[in-house]
Amino acid sequence: MSSSFKAPRGTFDALPEKQPARRLVEDTSRLLLERAGYARIETPIFEETSLFARGVGESTDIVSKQMFSFTDQGDRELTLRPEGTASVCRAYLEHGMQKWPQPAKLWYSGPFFRHERPQAGRYRQFQQIGAEAIGSDSPLVDAEMIALLADLISMLGITDARLRLGSLGSVDSRAAYLEELRGYLRANDSELSEEVRGRIDSNPLRAFDADHEGTAKVMAEAPTMLDRLDAADAEHFEVVKGVLDDLGVTYELDPSLVRGLDYYTRTVFEFTCDSLGAQSGVGGGGRYDGLIEQLGGRPTPAVGWAAGVERLVLAMPNQVPEPRAEIFVVADDENRKRALRLVVDLRRAGVSADLDLAERATKGQMKQADRVGAKSCVILDSDREPVVRDMESGEQVSVALSNLVERLSPDAS
Ligand code: ATP
Ligand code: MG
Repeated sequence: MSSSFKAPRGTFDALPEKQPARRLVEDTSRLLLERAGYARIETPIFEETSLFARGVGESTDIVSKQMFSFTDQGDRELTLRPEGTASVCRAYLEHGMQKWPQPAKLWYSGPFFRHERPQAGRYRQFQQIGAEAIGSDSPLVDAEMIALLADLISMLGITDARLRLGSLGSVDSRAAYLEELRGYLRANDSELSEEVRGRIDSNPLRAFDADHEGTAKVMAEAPTMLDRLDAADAEHFEVVKGVLDDLGVTYELDPSLVRGLDYYTRTVFEFTCDSLGAQSGVGGGGRYDGLIEQLGGRPTPAVGWAAGVERLVLAMPNQVPEPRAEIFVVADDENRKRALRLVVDLRRAGVSADLDLAERATKGQMKQADRVGAKSCVILDSDREPVVRDMESGEQVSVALSNLVERLSPDAS
């Protein structure tokens, strides 16, 4: 009998079998980031809508189409967070983190919400791990950040990730460049595909990705943002690249790399795994030197990234084994309560232990011990001394009930 209720479209239940891999991503991230001096922050699942409208950008897809927004009982306009950076910056300002040693290095993990078309690897609620370093304009921070995400990906066993790297320059030089690019596209519009021609005003950078032969020819000669960086931005980018080379992080320069958020300046990057098909982005980020000021703070440089847990799990080549009980206690009817007592004592002593709670006969309990993958089972039988049986070798030894916990504890020799 199943209910007619289903998880909402684009959402999913992460059942127990999915947990080992998801937990590995989170545990590995925590280990890596805390080792690098990043402290965890948790921010609310919902924020004032205007935080995202301002912080992410009114014209982005995220703000214009993808937000789950609602009005609460007090007539406040609220939104389920679609990304983490705006919230972390709000918290930075709200809690005076400018007074902390700079940069403030923070990381987070949690659910995010975007009303997108559900597909493999694209959901309406998904889990992100993210990191932000706020308060330094050093290109070393850009490189540190990128290296951290590269290391996370490789610690998870993912070997087919490619890093694309670009620089957007400052807000002004980017705007000037986009105008130049529009002019160039208009001057060559007879060679362009219709689709690209239709997007000259709204999204001229799209032209770089077009497969259309004529467009590709035009774009091979097109000016790129990387050619138009001003001296300071170009120098910053040179240092980022040089440090990545030093650290052994390989990248491809992508002059057309754009990200779906308005706040980026200078360095932008994205890791993709071709094996994931259409939804290939596993994580990305960049520098956002203008965002804190946009949210009402003093000009404060910052850089960060976010990675998608579901996509990382999809890209991981190895199965992550489920944890299993070490000890399964099998008991005949007279010993059921004693079995529970033993299991509780074992757990208190640090041993993972389980027992039958479905009143199975002892034979069924042995099967259950096998099914859950227990390393050993303890058999409590009224007619004899307790027996410890190694499930793999079948070897059995008798142990007095009073000695069992000590005998089976991790520090027992
Ligand atoms: P995409 O190009 O796939 O839409 P994005 O540029 O919107 O990604 P970001 O906002 O940078 O992604 O988020 C960082 C990461 O979060 C992405 O690289 C991806 O792994 C993951 N992610 C983003 N949107 C979703 C989603 N709807 N479902 C699952 N994971 C997502
Ligand atoms: Mg997106």
